[in-house]
Amino acid sequence: MEPIAQNRTRRDFLRISALGVTGALLLPNNKIFSGNQSENQKRMGIALVGLGYYSTDLLAPALQETKTAYLAGIVTGSPEKAKVWSEKFKLPQKNIYNYENFDQIASNTDIDIVYVVLPNSMHKEYTIRAANAGKHVICEKPMAMNAKECREMIAACEKNKVGLSIGYRMHYEPYTQEIMRLAKDKDFGNILHISCGAGFRNTNLNHWKWKKEFGGSALMDMGVYPLQAARYVTGLEPLTVSAQCLNTRPEILKDLYDVYSFQLEFPGGAVANLDSGFHANFNYLKAFDENGWFELDPFSSYGGIKGRSVKGEFIFPDIYQQVQQMDEDAISFSKGETPRVTGYEGLKDMLVIDAINESIKTKKKVKIGKV
Ligand code: NAD
Repeated sequence: MEPIAQNRTRRDFLRISALGVTGALLLPNNKIFSGNQSENQKRMGIALVGLGYYSTDLLAPALQETKTAYLAGIVTGSPEKAKVWSEKFKLPQKNIYNYENFDQIASNTDIDIVYVVLPNSMHKEYTIRAANAGKHVICEKPMAMNAKECREMIAACEKNKVGLSIGYRMHYEPYTQEIMRLAKDKDFGNILHISCGAGFRNTNLNHWKWKKEFGGSALMDMGVYPLQAARYVTGLEPLTVSAQCLNTRPEILKDLYDVYSFQLEFPGGAVANLDSGFHANFNYLKAFDENGWFELDPFSSYGGIKGRSVKGEFIFPDIYQQVQQMDEDAISFSKGETPRVTGYEGLKDMLVIDAINESIKTKKKVKIGKV
């Protein structure tokens, strides 16, 4: 599991998203989305592919609150889950697919967006199949197994003229957007150093998140958060990486690592010292500029992000990130606009991950490939 959702009551109370206080949202054709179920036909229909933890606990509940998107269908290999979900969310039988008949989704006009929420090794296949079916795609992080797969996914979406977004929910989050702004506007001068880490104590050793062939590992699961942060705090692409890994539980972990640390060098001299792990619960981001500092702690939880700079506390609304993410993506796709987080964002991370793997293998500093 990933960071625990924060107290929903408090969050509900605090929520003031880009949807505005009325909860209504203006779409390109000037239709107002009121959030009323009867308006579903005017919203973008999303089909969730893979009904595991993230779909069940975060995305499906979020889709009960989105204004521009709604849960229109599911793709699952489990007839039992299909029954439970179709009853719970009142999904018509024609909008329920399995992994074999998934491609028939092409002729289903209820489904505009396919959201891939599968083990990482399956992201490429289902993104490409969805794109070939003419559907816009949201693909969970990490985008794929390596940069080569990311390029194939981007090419398939471009060829089919469908949108592609990656599930980097922090880009839609106000505290995160503030530190992106600080980086851009250089409020405290040039960035010199970033220290950031994300991890949780993962004791579910039979899960695919420990298995290399599924794209599991603490690096793939949690390492993308500090990597993302280093890239959005600097607003730059790193030049080199040096990486190390550790096994803190050799008595139970065989041929596996549960700690990944890596250091990035950026153009202009900024350095990032980043940690990820399945060994402990941690979540922090600190950045040091020429004339000041700022931090978010936690920086990538589902809610309750807090932050401050040398000038004082940041105060922003605590939003339901997945609602904001899917609402914004649905608007971008419906307008034919580029989503906030493109496939290239996922590719840039995988270029670094490829270099991290190379650095671990060679025990050397490795140059990071270019888009
Ligand atoms: P999970 O194991 O709980 O769910 C995976 C789903 O895929 C399950 O329903 C499983 O039945 C299905 N599946 C289909 N074929 C499978 C196969 N061959 N082997 C194993 N499972 C198979 O995992 P999850 O935590 O929901 O993660 C799914 C994706 O979502 C991952 O890419 C993960 O990184 C991402 N995720 C993102 C966030 C976020 O905050 N953005 C949080 C959690 C997970």
